[in-house]
Amino acid sequence: MRYDSAFIDGQWQPVSGTETLGLVDPSTEEEFASVRLAGTAEVDAAVAAARAAGAAWRAADRISVLRKAREAIEKRRAEFAGLITRDMGCPPKIADLVQVGTPLAVLDGFLSLSEVPDETIAHSLVVREPIGVVGAITPWNYPLHQVVAKVAPALLAGCTVVLKPSEVAPSAALLLAEVFDEAGLPPGVFNVVVGTGPVVGAALAAHPGVDMVSFTGSTAAGRLVSRAAADTVKRVALELGGKSASVVLPDADLAKAVKATVSNAFLNSGQTCTAWTRLLVHRDHHDEAARLAGEFASAMADRLGPLASKAQWDRVQGYLAAADATLVAGGPGRLENRDRGYYCKPTVYSGVAPSSVLAQEEIFGPVLSVIPYGDTDEAVEIANGTPYGLAGGVWAADNETALAVARRLRTGQVDINGARFNPLAPFGGYGQSGIGREMGKFGFDEYLEVKAIQLPA
Ligand code: NAD
Repeated sequence: MRYDSAFIDGQWQPVSGTETLGLVDPSTEEEFASVRLAGTAEVDAAVAAARAAGAAWRAADRISVLRKAREAIEKRRAEFAGLITRDMGCPPKIADLVQVGTPLAVLDGFLSLSEVPDETIAHSLVVREPIGVVGAITPWNYPLHQVVAKVAPALLAGCTVVLKPSEVAPSAALLLAEVFDEAGLPPGVFNVVVGTGPVVGAALAAHPGVDMVSFTGSTAAGRLVSRAAADTVKRVALELGGKSASVVLPDADLAKAVKATVSNAFLNSGQTCTAWTRLLVHRDHHDEAARLAGEFASAMADRLGPLASKAQWDRVQGYLAAADATLVAGGPGRLENRDRGYYCKPTVYSGVAPSSVLAQEEIFGPVLSVIPYGDTDEAVEIANGTPYGLAGGVWAADNETALAVARRLRTGQVDINGARFNPLAPFGGYGQSGIGREMGKFGFDEYLEVKAIQLPA
């Protein structure tokens, strides 16, 4: 793996600076490599390469190239999964199924979209064109999926890309550069520069040669990206944090709903932006729901991977130490049967006040808050009562009732009675969960400009 280089203009170019960052396997706490951090010189070179490659890429048979790339990712599926496990701790089975399986499904979704046809509105011809050079900035929790969710639609739309992956988990992005290169992506179409957010991410967001910045990460960093992008008035897409609610209506199958909520909340050790970290149950069912959640959570302990880094461990432990609710399962400290690694206990709190820190802030660890409500109006008010709005679930005896409540939730996605993920459905946030949508047609449109050409009568 080329941890000392950036992939620019189809070449691995040694990074000019000397600053390095150790990559640590979170299951052993041991450093296995160190990455040399790029700076603004690499950003400038990558943006120049992406600009130069634009015209030829717009004329290329992009679908065939991306089909080949898709096959190449599938072929090296085990390698991708292994690198992701080592970089950020996701257990091998989940790394294969979710960390690599989901981006493959997302890529299939984009490949299945037909060309965007021109439209006619009265005497105007409306055409869509690639926006140009895209700066993509991604986090460490799904290091391949978040990249593919941006890069696949951008490239298919005819854009060229400079990617800054998370410096904490850069390996999947570096392997992707290799795979794309072997699949025949022309030089300059896809560039990868590994560096820190405040240096490389900020430079990319502010760069006059970048037409759009697409960011996934924390709301705090998203704000900075937005500010950095403002002077050049580029398009900004933000996929940010969440504090999603699973709303269990009184007539729902309680055990089924609680079990599904626990497994959703703890997927990837709770390091998932869409995690249903708030379980809302009628107050008459609260104690039973808390008991069940504690039971399911404890049963998952051996299947959870570690948190991705020491920083993430410290952050989650800080929330656990300050928690002001009834502890049902888990709590502060390392999982009992582990003597090393950032293994956090799957934790459930009950009787959580909707306005408390536990119920308001994104913890990004395996921590579930059970919150009681009195009636459906109150459940909706609590569900909508955070600055976020990314995902959610509604459970009821019949789908119609659940749908009526789902319509009232201010959030980008809602799953009814455990309905499954759809890689073609728009994904993104209300409120401080972000701006714009990824996936499917909506995700594709983000990378297009719209031009109206008025035709004479
Ligand atoms: P983070 O915000 O710290 O970092 C995300 C990326 O932004 C990294 O590449 C980082 O280097 C970069 N960055 C940091 N500061 C920057 C700056 N000032 N300018 C430009 N780039 C900067 O987030 P993280 O800790 O890597 O990931 C966890 C967060 O991501 C969580 O809050 C989670 O909810 C969010 N997330 C959201 C989604 C979504 O689709 N909505 C998906 C996954 C993760």
